[in-house]
Amino acid sequence: MKLVILGPPGAGKGTYASRLTKKLDIPHISTGDIVREEIKSQSKIGKTIKQYSEKGALVPDTIINQLLAKRLNKSDCTKGFILDGYPRTINQAESLEKIAKIDVVINLNVSDKIIIDRLSSRILCSECGAIYNKKTLKPKIENVCDICSGRLYQRNDDKPKIIQERLDIYKNKTEPLIQYYLQKDLLKNIYCDNPSCPPKSIVNKILLALEKHQ
Ligand code: AMP
Repeated sequence: MKLVILGPPGAGKGTYASRLTKKLDIPHISTGDIVREEIKSQSKIGKTIKQYSEKGALVPDTIINQLLAKRLNKSDCTKGFILDGYPRTINQAESLEKIAKIDVVINLNVSDKIIIDRLSSRILCSECGAIYNKKTLKPKIENVCDICSGRLYQRNDDKPKIIQERLDIYKNKTEPLIQYYLQKDLLKNIYCDNPSCPPKSIVNKILLALEKHQ
């Protein structure tokens, strides 16, 4: 199955995708993780994209399309994949269409209030990228990853001013994709506006939507 998870920053795309990857046995591909890895490795591309990512701006389509195409070319993607954070523009969706036939797009609906609250308390593992929340999804030991014992940190772009900029970019550049995929009859809406709703129950809602779509 070739799946896209769409939703604003902080909607829980990474949290749900990391659970769905085990249930569906297909890789979870986060372009945000790919971008962070490139920056960490100090590659030529990493140095170019750092300036965009740190401001919360989108990396240019030509660069991100290339990084994604390279990842989808790997052998673990032949059975399918879960895309998290890609596409984010109509241009990216059109580029994706040329290299893969998407089966379904899950659109996560979450209010701005919940997003701002969630992102400002989000922390993640510097080693494996696992996501936690200082209020709702705490690690067993403070600032230590439950999975790999890596150090937990707050992303630079999860600071309040940058969160608002990322939400504005989402509304202008990414939201048009809802209509784009609706017209292609691929869109499934999932509503997650109860902040105390555990990730497991949203994942079950997504699995149910996938079953119905088949
Ligand atoms: P994320 O972890 O998905 O919020 O992504 C972190 C940052 O990586 C974004 O703020 C962008 O700078 C960059 N990025 C990730 N995915 C994309 C994409 N599809 N298009 C452009 N930039 C992206």
